[in-house]
Amino acid sequence: MAKMLISRFAPSPTGRLHLGHGFSALRAYDLARAADGRFLLRIEDIDPARCRPEHVAGIIEDLAWLGLDWDEPPVFQSQRLPLYAAALDRLKAAGLAYPCFCTRTRIAVEIAASAAAPHGPDGPLYPGICRRLSDADRAARIAAGEAHAWRLDVEKAEALAGPLTWHDARAGAVTAIPAIHGDIVLARKDAPTSYHLAVTVDDAAQGVTDVVRGQDLFAATHVHRLLQALLGLPVPRYHHHALLTDDRGERLAKRAGSPTLASMRAGGADAGKLVAQLRKPRP
Ligand code: GLU
Repeated sequence: MAKMLISRFAPSPTGRLHLGHGFSALRAYDLARAADGRFLLRIEDIDPARCRPEHVAGIIEDLAWLGLDWDEPPVFQSQRLPLYAAALDRLKAAGLAYPCFCTRTRIAVEIAASAAAPHGPDGPLYPGICRRLSDADRAARIAAGEAHAWRLDVEKAEALAGPLTWHDARAGAVTAIPAIHGDIVLARKDAPTSYHLAVTVDDAAQGVTDVVRGQDLFAATHVHRLLQALLGLPVPRYHHHALLTDDRGERLAKRAGSPTLASMRAGGADAGKLVAQLRKPRP
């Protein structure tokens, strides 16, 4: 018997949802419902500086307004920190993670001083300053209580994992190229995990078979695929969808001040019509 399809919507409660979120949630929901599968809601609230409880309530209200329901109580990443810590411990034990004491300024100075700083999808890559520290230096600085993040030694990790592929519904078979992100952060100075580690651990722990999310996270999947290999986790199917854009072709985003679902509702929008519009086939 084929495994039951499980999809999820995983918003970060840093603001109210806009139409693009609604679109993404609906795609994940429809995929599960069409396959008689399960649809999960996961609140990605690991960033204490940006996440707010009132936005969690707002997200739940917005999704319910669109007519979505989920098959298990929502899961909160802030309540699952031991799971991420255990995954990080495994990467540390395998010698694949190192402490990084750098401040943003220190990194920026190093990048500015380099003639050809390599860039990834999200900007300049971490220049590897703390990768070059000795074990003794690391131990001394940790013992002295110096604040630090943990980074993945991507070159070492890739060498250990060997060649990897993953499948995307639109792109087909994709060869993973995690090194384009450099030594990503696994645990932040101000949060005991990072998006990449938490999302990978949770999709596996929740049995997610199908990850539906925007094309903006396509490149992140390269590193999620590597973490899956290192942690011995199953590999879901991926469905990265095109992002909704406004009349000027700009992608919808909180930052761009795109109208929220809440403001549309307050303005008298009809949820049924909106959902029908979002469900119209598009490339
Ligand atoms: N929490 C992420 C966001 O709101 C999405 C994570 C994912 O779908 O993998 O952008």
